[in-house]
Amino acid sequence: MNDVAKNIAQIRATLPSHVRLVAVSKFHPAEMIREAYDAGQRIFGESRVQELLLKKPVLPDDIEWHFIGHLQTNKVKQIVPFVSMIHSIDTPKLLQEINKAAEHIDRKISCLLQIHIAREESKFGFSFEECREYLRSGAWKDLHSVQLCGVMGMATLTDDREQIKSEFLSLHKFFNEIKKDYFSEDESFREISMGMSDDYPLAIEAGSTLVRIGSRIFGERVY
Ligand SMILES: *Cc1c(COP(=O)(O)O)cnc(C)c1O
Repeated sequence: MNDVAKNIAQIRATLPSHVRLVAVSKFHPAEMIREAYDAGQRIFGESRVQELLLKKPVLPDDIEWHFIGHLQTNKVKQIVPFVSMIHSIDTPKLLQEINKAAEHIDRKISCLLQIHIAREESKFGFSFEECREYLRSGAWKDLHSVQLCGVMGMATLTDDREQIKSEFLSLHKFFNEIKKDYFSEDESFREISMGMSDDYPLAIEAGSTLVRIGSRIFGERVY
């Protein structure tokens, strides 16, 4: 087995059956994605539109592409025709734009609300309160070409495991709150996307359903 296949097998062996693996292939070439594909991996995460547009046409059609990075509204149209899930909804406007583009081509796109759970200032996402306010507004109910499927978050980059764990738990708690208040009848609202190479075991303990793992599969990224 090559390294990519070995790494995927190792990670899979540790994932509970309710947790899906998103292989984050950003900055890695199509050939490496192919190796992961040949090892049975089907969900891949990319964070840049241009890079995704170059890779998609040279790779198999049954790949489920998940967009996980900050998405500018003017680039929405380019990925809506083929992405299966967008993890990084960080403004009401972005969700509206995705809805508009999807409606136009008769697709429905699965989306996750990105919540800012880290201490760092720079990360994108709704605060808990901003997200509550948006859900309270009800504006999302008119967007019939997007399906809200859950939440996504990134923990602070720190060695403090307790800190990371408590951030993940805060996201799980928030998921439970909005599930109860707005999505209790909605079976599609069930995803908590959290956990990366260095913290995914903690994320799983805290209730993750989608882990986004890059460097532990493909090696360090070259910037
Ligand atoms: C790059 C990235 C990941 C994967 O990070 P690794 O540490 O390489 O596993 C996960 N989520 C998002 C949003 C990313 O940008």
